[in-house]
Amino acid sequence: MNQQELLPICIAGQWRLGTGDRYATRYPATGEVVAELNAASLADVEEAVQGAQRAFVTSGWAQRKPHERAAVLYRIAELIRARAEPLAQRQRLDNGKPISETRALVASAAGTFQFFAAACETLEETLTPARGDCLTMSVYEPMGVVAAITPWNSPIASEAQKMAPALAAGNAVVVKPAEITPLMALELAAICEEAGVPKGLISVLPGKGSVIGDAITKHPLVKRVSFTGGTTTGRHIAHIAADKMMPVSLELGGKSPTMVLEDADLDHAVNGVLYGIFSSSGESCIAGSRLFVARALYEPFMDRLAAGAAHLRVGDPADERTQMGPLITDRHRDSIESFVALGVQEGGQLRTGGLRPNVAGCENGYFYTPTIIEGLDNQARICQEEIFGPVLVAMPFDNEEDLIAQANDSVYALAAGVWTRDYKRAWRIARAVQAGNVWINTYKQFSISTPFGGWRDSGLGREKGRLGILQYMEQKSVYWGMNEQPLPWAN
Ligand code: NDP
Repeated sequence: MNQQELLPICIAGQWRLGTGDRYATRYPATGEVVAELNAASLADVEEAVQGAQRAFVTSGWAQRKPHERAAVLYRIAELIRARAEPLAQRQRLDNGKPISETRALVASAAGTFQFFAAACETLEETLTPARGDCLTMSVYEPMGVVAAITPWNSPIASEAQKMAPALAAGNAVVVKPAEITPLMALELAAICEEAGVPKGLISVLPGKGSVIGDAITKHPLVKRVSFTGGTTTGRHIAHIAADKMMPVSLELGGKSPTMVLEDADLDHAVNGVLYGIFSSSGESCIAGSRLFVARALYEPFMDRLAAGAAHLRVGDPADERTQMGPLITDRHRDSIESFVALGVQEGGQLRTGGLRPNVAGCENGYFYTPTIIEGLDNQARICQEEIFGPVLVAMPFDNEEDLIAQANDSVYALAAGVWTRDYKRAWRIARAVQAGNVWINTYKQFSISTPFGGWRDSGLGREKGRLGILQYMEQKSVYWGMNEQPLPWAN
């Protein structure tokens, strides 16, 4: 392999080769190599963090007025929109999602920069009621160097969700994308520089999380980590953060319940449940992976659901009609197959799926059919552990109390869905279910203006929302003396 063919990475304002191990990224639909690059090394981490700190102190970014920083963020949104199609195609190659999904992710990334530009220029600081001869106020300051660590399932959207508020707040950002999907973070960093973010303020360090991510998290100059990924990694990062007294936000895994009541609109519910679990091939933290159906409705509903699942179009991500692309890697597909085998071993029955389909033109891709398993108790391992693939476990429930007890019986509490025409029950259940996000008669709908995050093992903190920018700022109280006389104590 010749040096010129290697993809440069972004380290402290320079686009150059990493000094870590050489590796290749692959298109999950065919297994073909997409890019070859050198990962970042520990020395690159040091250079990137030091460079980010230097840029934070000397570039003047933090001192720019909010509307000036916002203008740059608006330009980033415009540049993303101007390059939407090539970005969406690149993202398809990066992680194998269908083109319809990657287009939506690119649009969402642009929307995120636009939203945080607006949040930045409209952020208010407060004059608080004084209790003495002072002006008392609460203001916000940027933190310095913050880190964004992202997983492979939704690059560009995940990175935008962290980079936009962090930059809007005036910080420098060191991004650690998933080792196997580094391309979009690099594209985004180039766009940010082109839009006017000072060089050095952003670094992108692809590489092994256990080495590079760990070193970034532990670095004394890194003042905050925003992490999206698995719960085990999140817990590890939380321990480091505790030692450093560093704030951290953790968007982690899920095993989200979808609940279909007797009076649900069946057309909507069948579609919504299929979309909730099988879109993104189930590689989604909020996948509705546990289904509870009212016992009286169970058999007819499952017949329709299984027929719907069997008809989903699993195929070439480049095809606009494809609903489910390949899984991210062969290894991940093996892990999903092991979970399905475990479910069967635990006494479950396959209602549909459980196969590696042959996809014309993508014979070496990591495809798996939409799979539904039933006949298990909520205590079964495949009902409790996150599979992160196109596997739904379905169970009947007897009454509302039983439903809520089962839905909440999980270490995870990220999302939930309820399908019913009874608005009072919908509200009661939405309030009783323990989850960071609840959808009523819909699923997996998002708005950048609505905070997102999980409870319990699904995470800590919230991203998005107008106040999402405050996660990347320190609050400061200022008392400004207005006394005509010296303080009484001094007399
Ligand atoms: P991981 O936790 O393995 O990886 C996520 C990121 O963390 C990657 O960049 C990874 O690098 C890095 N990393 C790994 N180990 C460390 C470490 N010790 N210190 C710092 N960084 C580290 O998750 P997956 O990549 O497997 O992603 C899937 C998981 O993400 C699922 O559990 C899913 O539910 C969750 N997720 C949560 C979302 C949410 O918003 N709640 C959204 C999307 C996914 P490397 O590439 O080397 O692994």
